[in-house]
Amino acid sequence: MQRITVLSALVAGAAFSAILAAQQGQARPPLPDAQKVKDNLWVITQSTPGPDFTGGNTGIFVTDTGVVVVDTKLSGYGPSILDKIKKITDKPVTTIINTHTHGDHTGSNEAFPATVDFVAQENTKANMAKMPAFAGEKAQFLPKRTYKDRMTVGSGKNEIDLYYFGPGHTNGDSWVVYKSLRVLQTGDMFAWRDAPTIDRGNGGSGVEYPKTLAKAIAGIKDVDIVIPGHSPVTTPKDLQEYQKFMAEWIAAVEAANKAGKSADEAATSIDLTAKYPGYKKERYKTAIDAVYAELKK
Ligand SMILES: [Zn+2]
Repeated sequence: MQRITVLSALVAGAAFSAILAAQQGQARPPLPDAQKVKDNLWVITQSTPGPDFTGGNTGIFVTDTGVVVVDTKLSGYGPSILDKIKKITDKPVTTIINTHTHGDHTGSNEAFPATVDFVAQENTKANMAKMPAFAGEKAQFLPKRTYKDRMTVGSGKNEIDLYYFGPGHTNGDSWVVYKSLRVLQTGDMFAWRDAPTIDRGNGGSGVEYPKTLAKAIAGIKDVDIVIPGHSPVTTPKDLQEYQKFMAEWIAAVEAANKAGKSADEAATSIDLTAKYPGYKKERYKTAIDAVYAELKK
């Protein structure tokens, strides 16, 4: 009897440590070291949703006065992000920019001091304020500084320009331009080479998506490098291709809808993978459901 009790206590203890480890992020897949993008800009990569999922790409911009972090991955990754930053610089994190509301881009805000300058587009702040992860005490990790269409953070060679060009993935996606480095971080407006996640609950729009991409491409000049939301660092040419893909994809979905096809039929019949090499169609169905719901309104 006593032995059983001791055993149960051990088992319960082990389960408790596993939960604790998970809470502290230890059971999660580890982050890779930051990879240099250019000069004083780095990215902590990974990943697309799956078993190794850690969240979106995280930009690490080392300025004269401190470190700007763009997107904070899933919750539990704060200590690991800080470890990776320590390998690059001793400077403190002074600014966090969240490209949009999702938990894989805002999840580890809470690991940073509340004195950090948290920045986001105003709709993203409103969306984040609705998340349980930012309720009560955690509201201190919400963006304090917001903007509507455009804002500049920092100055001189440390300047970051933030732009909002309209809805797509959500209704508050920031386009982040590291001006002197000619680098653009897109957040999930350009996450991967497939249909996007269209988060209607947070104001996203499939119909507007290609138009917003076109506005961003027209409005953001002088960029040589693009950091997407969930895929490897690439070039503006790939972003331009994504805009073409999205324009064509949405037109095909709208045509299928008009022709009376069901979302399932549309997901089967539409296929742009041959025309766009390297593109997948793993996310068509979910995205088509979102567009169909949008067209019904
Ligand atoms: Zn997202």
